[in-house]
Amino acid sequence: MTIADNLDKVQARVAAAARRAQRSPDEITLVAVSKTMPLALISEAAEAGQIDFGENRLEELLEKVDAAAEAGLGTIRWHAIGTIQSRKTKLALGPIALIHAVDRVKIAQRLSRQAGDAGRTLEVLLEVNVSGEESKHGFTPASMKAALPDLLELPALRYCGLMTMAPFVADPEEARPFFRELRCLLEDIRQNYPAAKHPQATWAHLSMGMTADFEVAIEEGATIIRVGTAIFGHREYE
Ligand SMILES: *Cc1c(COP(=O)(O)O)cnc(C)c1O
Repeated sequence: MTIADNLDKVQARVAAAARRAQRSPDEITLVAVSKTMPLALISEAAEAGQIDFGENRLEELLEKVDAAAEAGLGTIRWHAIGTIQSRKTKLALGPIALIHAVDRVKIAQRLSRQAGDAGRTLEVLLEVNVSGEESKHGFTPASMKAALPDLLELPALRYCGLMTMAPFVADPEEARPFFRELRCLLEDIRQNYPAAKHPQATWAHLSMGMTADFEVAIEEGATIIRVGTAIFGHREYE
């Protein structure tokens, strides 16, 4: 199997899941998660037409931005999908299309301050821990609602939606309630903080679903899925 074959297969599964949910596949952005993968494989995916790539470590993302530019790869949109440590927020000012995992007010404040100083606006998602698992990062739904008034005061962030990591479960159906909860939370936020009144928010996206569960996530409203293994194969390390 080549990367191009894998991408075709994933896209066919995306389309089938979208059809089941009476959605258009065009509403769903596939982010190819290339963490730990060498540039050669990213290049193969890009040549097969893949545009969005995700990395969870900012250093690795920025190295790959440079390597991809040097290799003359065309347009790539880079997504920062991992937790951002507070001493590394400056790295998030790199050429990143979307920051998926803003998980604390403190990180949001630092990002906004540093982006503002650089004359930039950063597009971000808020990470929500809907399963309540202690190993997972993110706001609880309640802590996020409590933080929203403060978050919406930060001038240099643009809130594009929510992101979650579902628990690792054997049967993807078991992840469904968590995806549904994230969608309900976004609907709730859209009502209480409508984008029409809050120009720094669009609330357009739900980033949820990975190799094990992206079809269920699409059925529950995902607009962005983050898929690594099904495209690039198993990772030797994280
Ligand atoms: C690694 C990773 C993924 C992709 O995981 P796969 O199971 O390989 O598809 C998605 N999201 C985040 C935040 C990740 O770190």
